[in-house]
Amino acid sequence: MEKSCPCGETMSMKLRTVIYSGKVEIDNVPVYSCDACSRSEVFPEVKPDLTGLIGQLGAKPEQQTFLFNEWNEWADLIMELYTRQKRPSRQEMDKLIGERINKLLDLLLLAQRLGDDEWIAEVEKRLSQISRRTMST
Ligand SMILES: [Zn+2]
Repeated sequence: MEKSCPCGETMSMKLRTVIYSGKVEIDNVPVYSCDACSRSEVFPEVKPDLTGLIGQLGAKPEQQTFLFNEWNEWADLIMELYTRQKRPSRQEMDKLIGERINKLLDLLLLAQRLGDDEWIAEVEKRLSQISRRTMST
């Protein structure tokens, strides 16, 4: 779960708190950061949901806190990954992604069998988040 930084050092993944507008705290956002030059980048796969969440808050948000992992399947998965391993590898992440997709597909079947439209929509959203992969390494 590392990538190389433009400065030549290694950027590692951390779950960080993003503060928006000085008032809104968004916890557990997966961010790559470099200790050498302090550069940081939001994990690309979660960017659309992070900007979506910020968009919903509007220009003058009230003081509040969000747990990003409740909004985004990637953030949730990365939290689980770091609970299991201190320095997880890409292979461990791939394995966990596979397990998570299987679990979500099982849930989807169950939700469909029960005819629970709200639940179906929720599971479909989580599946679409996690299948959005643009990783190049
Ligand atoms: Zn750097």
